[in-house]
Amino acid sequence: MKAFVFNGPGKKAVEERPKPEISAPTDAVVKLLKTTICGTDLHILKGDVPTCTPGRILGHEGVGVVDKVGNAVTAFKPGDHVIISCISSCGTCEYCRRGMYSHCINGGWILGNRIDGTQAEFVRTPFADTSLYHAPAGAEEDALVMLSDILPTGFECGVLNGKVQPGSTVAIVGAGPIGLAALLTAQFYAPAEIIMIDLDDNRLEMSTRFGATAVVNNKDGNAVEKVMKMTGGRGVDTAIEAVGVPASFITCEDIVAPGGVIANVGVHGVKADLHLERLWDRNISITTRLVDTSTTPMLLKTVQSRRIDAKKLITHRFKFDQVLDAYETFGAAANTHALKVLIEF
Ligand SMILES: [Zn+2]
Ligand SMILES: [Zn+2]
Repeated sequence: MKAFVFNGPGKKAVEERPKPEISAPTDAVVKLLKTTICGTDLHILKGDVPTCTPGRILGHEGVGVVDKVGNAVTAFKPGDHVIISCISSCGTCEYCRRGMYSHCINGGWILGNRIDGTQAEFVRTPFADTSLYHAPAGAEEDALVMLSDILPTGFECGVLNGKVQPGSTVAIVGAGPIGLAALLTAQFYAPAEIIMIDLDDNRLEMSTRFGATAVVNNKDGNAVEKVMKMTGGRGVDTAIEAVGVPASFITCEDIVAPGGVIANVGVHGVKADLHLERLWDRNISITTRLVDTSTTPMLLKTVQSRRIDAKKLITHRFKFDQVLDAYETFGAAANTHALKVLIEF
């Protein structure tokens, strides 16, 4: 089969690989129909993710058809259409029993990281019963790809951890796919204001179409001042960090209102300063989380009922034999205006 392979920092290739086999009775092998590229894949290609070693097939998102199942798999059978979760969960370890699947001691984020992933014609998915989801018959499979990672990530790490409330004021720092997923799912809770902050006018314009009540371009570095002015000097109840660099986290520290929450979503590679000398008396909370995908079944219903239109996050489409072009387009998002690129087999 053809697969997209990480061959060490800056080195990527499409290679011919053997089709994966069932190696544990709880495994399934899934034939991919659609996959996509995540910002995390770009981090891996830069060499930022040491757990992902050269030779690895990348990808942790996708929908497909079950090809084979191990003899302990009871919930899925060959021919079933499935959503592949970015998190593999054994369902039985201490963390899984607490719903913290991202910390599963036997799984977690392993696909396209510690084991071969979904940017290939076939993928082996461990713990199939507790890590795959049935794709409803007649569902728009393009939209379902957004359920593998970005919708639950934006919702769980941003909206739920950020305790978005009816009538509250929310700021989302970073209008990339994850920030936009937080924007779409924050609206379940009817906040009064959602302010999007980014450096890219195109993404901010998209944010307005996706439901932001105000947008701030921080090219001039004055986002904090502008947000404070918009909120009458009070700040925001929820500040969602969806970039993963020190400056955007510090922006959140500067705009959080007394009693508010800073919900970090971004993947941070270097330290960010925590200004306790300004925050110690402000009754705030700071939350961090890796997505557990515990809300995927609920989000699937909201996508099915068109309560959210997840498909609009897809800006570009490629066939799998153009996967290198797909990476080029996604990697140059500032010029190509790419959000999610859909790769079809
Ligand atoms: Zn991802
Ligand atoms: Zn587990």
